[in-house]
Amino acid sequence: MYQSSEITQQIAQTAKDFAIRNIKPHVMEWDEGQEFPLHIFKKMGSLGLMGVLVPDEYGGSGLSYFEYKTIIEEIAKVCGGIGLSLAAHNSLCTGHILSFGNEEQKRKYLPKLATCEWLGAWGLTEPNTGSDAGNMKCTATKEGDHWVINGTKSWITHGKSGDVAVVIARTGEPRTKNNATAFVVERGISGFSAGKKENKLGMRASETTEMIFDNCVVPDENRLGEVGDGFKQSMKVLDGGRISIASLSLGIAKGAFEAAARYSKERYQFDQPIANFQGISFKLADMATEIDAADLLTLRACELKNQNKKVSCEAAMAKYFASEVAVKTATEAVQIFGGNGYTKEFPVEKYYRDAKLCTIGEGTSEIQKLVIAREVLQGF
Ligand SMILES: Cc1cc2nc3c(=O)[nH]c(=O)nc-3n(C[C@H](O)[C@H](O)[C@H](O)COP(=O)(O)OP(=O)(O)OC[C@H]3O[C@@H](n4cnc5c(N)ncnc54)[C@H](O)[C@@H]3O)c2cc1C
Repeated sequence: MYQSSEITQQIAQTAKDFAIRNIKPHVMEWDEGQEFPLHIFKKMGSLGLMGVLVPDEYGGSGLSYFEYKTIIEEIAKVCGGIGLSLAAHNSLCTGHILSFGNEEQKRKYLPKLATCEWLGAWGLTEPNTGSDAGNMKCTATKEGDHWVINGTKSWITHGKSGDVAVVIARTGEPRTKNNATAFVVERGISGFSAGKKENKLGMRASETTEMIFDNCVVPDENRLGEVGDGFKQSMKVLDGGRISIASLSLGIAKGAFEAAARYSKERYQFDQPIANFQGISFKLADMATEIDAADLLTLRACELKNQNKKVSCEAAMAKYFASEVAVKTATEAVQIFGGNGYTKEFPVEKYYRDAKLCTIGEGTSEIQKLVIAREVLQGF
């Protein structure tokens, strides 16, 4: 049985209080205006929420995946979009540098990322290569002591506002092994710009844009790890990232469940609360059971990650299951709210829109099943 520690409970309370005070009053304004509230991330940086897994020696909070899960959940209960950006900054950009940067790179970037003096982005996806990310077209060509990057990355969280981005570009022949390399690219260097901003169904407070590289010159000292290791590194980064999307899904699912449970006791039809009808209470029973199962899968993945063990299958299971549960829970929550669920006056329509991203981002449900099937079929 996973018992949350005192420190995890304290951190959960801090994140919850922060979300209720600073995020909740503005949720619909940011959603409708598709506004990315950078100042909120700066504030979260001062609370240690932007470098949760970064050790103290690099200016981070030095916490474990248990606290990280809890923080994302509490923020996502209030706004999925802010939760998504928090996850992308911590797990993807910061996580990649933490796992694969050399000492000099860690000292240079991690303290700024952990406080959110610099916001991070991470670019793997391209217009024509999402699930098949290994087939990337964006190239980096070595010229003397620097690399020249050309191409477009799409669907990048903080592609415009990010001060620093980890970019994975092809450095070998197409469709060969070990043909990609990761680089840290700083905002403001020549040849690096943001492209179109996506107008999204949900997660609208999270910024998603293209990143365009046009003869962008990056010094070799910005290369993360060995030439050719970029794709392998990315898959490891995504193992951690999938735990954060599972946590994001849990936050959305729990937020939707709590709203629906409360409403089912307040809403009267046929002279009684709708919770009295088995058709409604059984929905809530299913939602609660599935959320608990998703929670336990996510906790197991957190535990393995804390122990530095291989977690590809367990993280994929947690992400796959929790994201599908978030979509189902949010859908049933809208149903329980009836007509009210279909308006922006009540919170569940936003959970419904936000939840869908969780089955797509950082590998779709189908791709999670590929990862799980590959693992479970080994040895037969
Ligand atoms: C809001 C948002 C934020 C994002 N942030 C980032 C980011 O910060 N950085 C980044 O690099 N990317 C980011 N992404 C991209 C995201 O990771 C991709 O959208 C995702 O991996 C899916 O790729 P795709 O959109 O190209 O879909 P496709 O790969 O085109 O997939 C289309 C459909 O085909 C299915 N499919 C594909 N291949 C297979 C197969 N082999 N077997 C079965 N089914 C298959 C998919 O499951 C899906 O249903 C973001 C996306 C969104 C929507």
